[in-house]
Amino acid sequence: MAQPRIQYKTNAQMRTMREAGLVLIKALDAAVAAARPGITTAEIDKVFAAVLAEEGAASNFLGYYDFPATICTSVNEEVVHGIPGGRVLADGDIISIDGGAIVDGWHSDSARTVIVGTADPEDQRLSDVTETAMWHGIAAAAKGRFVGDIGAAIDDYVSSVPGKPLGILEDYVGHGIGSEMHQAPDVLNYRTSHRGPKLKPGMCLAIEPMLVRGGIETVTLEDDWTVVTTDGARSCQWEHTVAIHDKGIWVLTAPDGGASRLAPLGVTPVPVP
Ligand code: MG
Ligand code: MG
Repeated sequence: MAQPRIQYKTNAQMRTMREAGLVLIKALDAAVAAARPGITTAEIDKVFAAVLAEEGAASNFLGYYDFPATICTSVNEEVVHGIPGGRVLADGDIISIDGGAIVDGWHSDSARTVIVGTADPEDQRLSDVTETAMWHGIAAAAKGRFVGDIGAAIDDYVSSVPGKPLGILEDYVGHGIGSEMHQAPDVLNYRTSHRGPKLKPGMCLAIEPMLVRGGIETVTLEDDWTVVTTDGARSCQWEHTVAIHDKGIWVLTAPDGGASRLAPLGVTPVPVP
């Protein structure tokens, strides 16, 4: 089978993806604000879907291989692809909310993790390390030469964190994004000997490390979607869609393009010209 080809976007296309990113920021803000003890994951999905509708954006999750909702809600030992439903969030639950939007045919994809109610400090650390690992990966998209530099930066940062080691999932990875949600290339979250394709202007990447407090083995439940850790350990995901253009990078799903979180890493993001 031929290698899937990378879709290099024009600046105009990336600016439309920014519009899809801005809608997604708004929808995720609302979903995160709604995530409190006592609410069901289906109710959070409704909140998210309502913002997309208000903004006139389409969902890239709904109907994707028959996925029945506009977000994935992955709670506690659920790693990714949790289906919103009747599950009621309890105090101390850690939930990853992963969503996307389409504007004029161009996609965005982003995930945040929230701990509802009182956070277990180890869960808070899991979320903080995952989020910071994502920013290290994003910085590597600006400073590196190859797609593989992103996973190496994530891996190096996670390994450098003092305290109990956290696992980086290998079964699920980031991806190219553009006129479809999932495109070439794969964006691994760990270091390998394969450096991957060159980072080039026009590439848009979803960078999405998934970390666990236990082992990295996962299994998919009978609903054919929900992925859980085999040992039941808690997991977490953060994700942004990042555009690489000829003047720099711009995080399409961050309000400030990533400026505040990238500054300490020596990167000044630049809006898509
Ligand atoms: Mg996602
Ligand atoms: Mg993604």
